[in-house]
Amino acid sequence: MTESPSYSAANPGVAVILLAGGAGLRAGLDMPKQLAMLGGKSVLAWSLDAFAAHPAIRSGVVVASADTLPYLPPLPPGWDVAAAGPERRLSVASGLEALAHVADDAIILIHDAARPGVTGGVIDNLLNCIVGGAVAAVPALPVTDTLVSRTGTTMGDVMDRASLVQVQTPQAFRISPLRLAHQSWDREQIATDDSQVVRALGHDVALIDGDARLHKLTYADDLIKLRAMLAPEGQAEMRHVTGSGYDVHRLVAGKPLWLGGVEIPHSHGLAGHSDADVALHALTDAILGALADGDIGDHFPPSDPQWRGANSSLFLSFAAERVKARGGRIDHVDMTIMAEAPRIGPHRAAIRTRLADILALSEAQVSVKATTTEGLGFTGRREGIAAQAIATLSLPFE
Ligand code: MG
Repeated sequence: MTESPSYSAANPGVAVILLAGGAGLRAGLDMPKQLAMLGGKSVLAWSLDAFAAHPAIRSGVVVASADTLPYLPPLPPGWDVAAAGPERRLSVASGLEALAHVADDAIILIHDAARPGVTGGVIDNLLNCIVGGAVAAVPALPVTDTLVSRTGTTMGDVMDRASLVQVQTPQAFRISPLRLAHQSWDREQIATDDSQVVRALGHDVALIDGDARLHKLTYADDLIKLRAMLAPEGQAEMRHVTGSGYDVHRLVAGKPLWLGGVEIPHSHGLAGHSDADVALHALTDAILGALADGDIGDHFPPSDPQWRGANSSLFLSFAAERVKARGGRIDHVDMTIMAEAPRIGPHRAAIRTRLADILALSEAQVSVKATTTEGLGFTGRREGIAAQAIATLSLPFE
């Protein structure tokens, strides 16, 4: 029996094309998904670190979109940056161009930065497969769900699951046939990955065992899955944090009164730079407090004229986005509005609905309370309204 060939230092060099041109999450993260935070570093940094730690990998190129560039982590020695194209194939071409100096016998790994769970084991298996004679090798996982065809919304025939696999990245190639395949690729044809391009030239593409940790980040829920899979021992669970917020605004005659995102009929309204919604300000500060991310004035300075008269729901949405961007979630918010007048009771339900709406929470996760101060103090004298809030969040370990 001969031993299967394995990669060694004597073998040709290995370079990586790391594709980071992706847009936001389908579930609505307002940033390129490869920049989402996962356990203290960006999704992109996870694969970059995995490649940099592998002894065979000597160089690489991060193919990044213009909006990703300013957020790239420091690159390891031998790594470079290239501009992403409008479609995947053009991004790979851009990466290949940046690796024009790489010798003809080199091995190239092409990887989608939205798959953070690269392991040394998968890289080893891919390299061994190429050193053993394959032109191309890709990781693949068996299909566990039943697959059926469809016509519109009607179920069609059941597919033969045993003959199907899910293809992942990184994918490994001899660089010469890959260069050739890209040069000769018909521009009209769409390829979702490079193994298809190489296969279209008549080369066999070898399948190696995939890894569940190579799961692709597509939806916000995938961040939770990936965190659980990639977290160090004992840190898969989220940590629970709370933050408090407090705010006061002065009541003045003849202004509209905005409270908790709802306009309330009253002789007086709150004065301030924005719409002065004291309840939304207290809640925004509570969420920022739980994130240990400064306060509302840091993010929206009153000195900045663009926030004059601003709808304060903007500030609250912003805080909720900051939670999402950290891979966290808001579990519960609770607020108390302190006012002698108007009576808040009749508007409580509307405020609760509005807060749940802004924060994308269920009403069960939102509590709104109100109190007078028995005629005491500035609230008692109807000079102003005060609000305090508490936010409870779950955040990943960092
Ligand atoms: Mg305020």
